Amino acid sequence: MMKNDLTLTTIKNVDKDKQAHVRAKPLPIIKGPHEGDVKCGGCGTAIAEGAGPQVIHALFQTDQDLVFECTCGALNLVPREA
Ligand SMILES: [Zn+2]
Repeated sequence: MMKNDLTLTTIKNVDKDKQAHVRAKPLPIIKGPHEGDVKCGGCGTAIAEGAGPQVIHALFQTDQDLVFECTCGALNLVPREA
């Protein structure tokens, strides 16, 4: 069975005017019932298992773009889903 894993894009710096910088541990921050994980673009660790980017956005409740800092230090841009 194919899994719809999503590996996030990493960025070098957080734009504090437009982006919310969040971190949490341990990973994954959430486990859902769906196919596919959201993975860190730096180390490949699952940030969310069985849940998509919209679930991460729902957790942190921000109107800004979300940047998730992994335990490896990588800054992952979490996309909003249409
Ligand atoms: Zn990482």
